Amino acid sequence: MKVLVAVKRVIDYNVKVRVKSDGSDVDLANTKMALNPFCEIAVEEAIRLKEQGVASEVVVVSVGDKACQEQIRTALALGADRGIQIESEGAVDSLSVAKLLKAVVAEEQPELVILGKQSIDSDNNQTGQMLAALTAMPQATFASELKVADGKATVTREVDGGLQTLELTLPAVVTTDLRLNEPRYASLPNIMKAKRKPLDVKSVAELGVELKNNMKTLKVEPPAERQGGIMVSSVTELVEKLQNEAKAI
Ligand code: AMP
Repeated sequence: MKVLVAVKRVIDYNVKVRVKSDGSDVDLANTKMALNPFCEIAVEEAIRLKEQGVASEVVVVSVGDKACQEQIRTALALGADRGIQIESEGAVDSLSVAKLLKAVVAEEQPELVILGKQSIDSDNNQTGQMLAALTAMPQATFASELKVADGKATVTREVDGGLQTLELTLPAVVTTDLRLNEPRYASLPNIMKAKRKPLDVKSVAELGVELKNNMKTLKVEPPAERQGGIMVSSVTELVEKLQNEAKAI
């Protein structure tokens, strides 16, 4: 069984995000970038399926400029077999990514496609759903457990108020939630080995997809600065400040 995993290069979650002075976007100059954490969980799950003998090949795909090869190599170091970069410059919206992934699905014919539930930069939470709709594959989002056997995927999902279990007929799309697994670290020998694993570069035109810019960022602004806190010396003073200064009570 072939598993396709979509991975995105995003700003590292430890980095304090800066906004460009003209408010046009987030400033990514000299910023540490990383594999989107939910994509890392997707890669880990695919590798575990391979280790269990359920998957025979794990292919990772990323849409982005040359820099995203770094994240593809990270996924290869974690254990994926080969990578595909779909070359694109600048921001590509979710629908365009989903269309490109659909073209890769048509070429690769995976039985399972795993995506993160969400990119931590754009917070869209929609690419997996769009891919499932475009390919007419069944989908299970926010997976916290995944079992694959006999042409079916059994997925436990975290929903409001509890857990829901779905059975999907393969091929299917699954998106990962935080508790699905704890990704491993890549070992140094595996990082070295990943440099020699195959990585194909494809153009958008080659995949027969025409990209439309459906979305425009109008403005990006940082959250309002929080006022510094103060220490009060007694409960009486606290109540007085809440009443007269904060007017909270
Ligand atoms: P989003 O819908 O943007 O929150 O992203 C959800 C998931 O879609 C991500 O975790 C990735 O698995 C996939 N995805 C989004 N953008 C890309 C991209 N540029 N390249 C590859 N996969 C992507």
